[in-house]
Amino acid sequence: LPALPLDARAGRLDSTRFSRYAGATRFDQLPISKKTKDALRQSKKYVQMSDIQRACLPHALCGRDVRGAAKTGSGKTLAFVIPIVEKLYRERWCPQDGVGSIVISPTREIASQTFDVFVLDEVDSMLSDPSFKQTMNAIISQLPKQRQTLIFSATHPKDVKDLAALCLKDPEFLNVHEKS
Ligand code: ADP
Ligand code: MG
Repeated sequence: LPALPLDARAGRLDSTRFSRYAGATRFDQLPISKKTKDALRQSKKYVQMSDIQRACLPHALCGRDVRGAAKTGSGKTLAFVIPIVEKLYRERWCPQDGVGSIVISPTREIASQTFDVFVLDEVDSMLSDPSFKQTMNAIISQLPKQRQTLIFSATHPKDVKDLAALCLKDPEFLNVHEKS
């Protein structure tokens, strides 16, 4: 397993708390709600975190922006779904508060796979579309300045770096190559 990046940068948000969870290997070691832990336990399938989940979840759960790269099938969906659910839960977000989170996916198929999570996706088509950047800029310009942003891809070409530069704030870049 790749070493987790240590929290070397001083003054980072909640760095003491982050360091307590940086070495977690199982979902039940994470600072997440009992409801989420129970749901993961119930499915039986989710005990050990995958590499991208181990790398991203401790950062994302303490509020940091993340750019995660890991191949298709490595478990990126839970690496963003868990932080979203936990943030909304901790803030007691309710329907009256409006939209608390948005997930932007390149195709209708991938969006619906995310909806009934745990299906395999085929990713990274968003950036090959020339109208993509324009659309993304329009979306990003409408987002609140204060937000947490997580970007996941299977590869990390220049287009992804440009997008990250545009919408992430002081991000963690976590690039994981899992053995197949
Ligand atoms: P990606 O988005 O990286 O292509 P997915 O999030 O779609 O990958 O996950 C791929 C498959 O792996 C799904 O079937 C998912 O249920 C399963 N999976 C994800 N995380 C774990 C885990 N920690 N343990 C076991 N299976 C997992
Ligand atoms: Mg995916």
